[in-house]
Amino acid sequence: MLDYHLHLWPHSEHETALSLDQLAAYCERAQAAGVTELAVTEHLFRFRQADALLGGFWDDPGVPPALAESMARYWKFHATADLDAYVECALEAKAVGLPIVIGLEVDFYEGRMDTVAGLLAGYPFDVLLGSVHWVDAWRFDDLDDPASMAEWSAREVDACWDAYTGAMEELAASRSCDVLAHPDLIKVAGHVPTAPDEWWDRLAEAAADSGMAAEVSSAGWRKPVGEQYPAAALLDRFVARGVPLTTASDAHRLEHVADRADDLRAVLATAGADTLQAYRGRVGHPVAVTAGVAFLNSRV
Ligand SMILES: [Zn+2]
Ligand SMILES: [Zn+2]
Repeated sequence: MLDYHLHLWPHSEHETALSLDQLAAYCERAQAAGVTELAVTEHLFRFRQADALLGGFWDDPGVPPALAESMARYWKFHATADLDAYVECALEAKAVGLPIVIGLEVDFYEGRMDTVAGLLAGYPFDVLLGSVHWVDAWRFDDLDDPASMAEWSAREVDACWDAYTGAMEELAASRSCDVLAHPDLIKVAGHVPTAPDEWWDRLAEAAADSGMAAEVSSAGWRKPVGEQYPAAALLDRFVARGVPLTTASDAHRLEHVADRADDLRAVLATAGADTLQAYRGRVGHPVAVTAGVAFLNSRV
């Protein structure tokens, strides 16, 4: 079992020091839940290097002023950390024997994924998650931002899913990342079309065509939608197309590390998936879902 989506800081914090102790505590909690390999995957937009290269996209023509202002404020608050120090800390964790691989959660920047890939090529990442958290400059998943949440009343749900899926397709086609994180995140606030099949089909096809894995995440259980990512019907489509899978908590703090690992195992079993995909140096290899359980039993 893997936890391949972990943050070091809650969104309410910034300029918090990196520490090896935090990573050791993550590993200890994960192993107690039968999770034996972790990927640290902080958001790319939390680093000054991303700000220098990608900041300002919210000023594009057509972005409503309230959303542009909200995104500018959000970005300024978050883009304070140093990517080199982050990678150094993760390398140190590996060097002392913690079961950690070095990753990043990379947001989709329309038409600029080559630029992103150029920045990231200089670092020794094991795995890169690809995510869509905003459409143009609308942070559809920022439940704490009134301007972002107000948009859900102003837009058609089908159109939101369509725009989100289009962004995921372009992200997958760019082949700049390895895993599609929380593949149906657009449902986060509980807005789901009456017949989502068309978008589920497109998401599964995008993953299969790109060779990317899809993440099975417990984070959705902690959100208004109240179900794992991806929905069972979308997971079935991934499995049917042979899309590799990872498991993840998307924790932003210790108490969510390996969150509901047993429930994720049950979801995988129902879908008939008994293998996950781990990564080293951005090359995938299969591991058994139950590998962590055997490891734990052997220590008792
Ligand atoms: Zn995310
Ligand atoms: Zn995340």
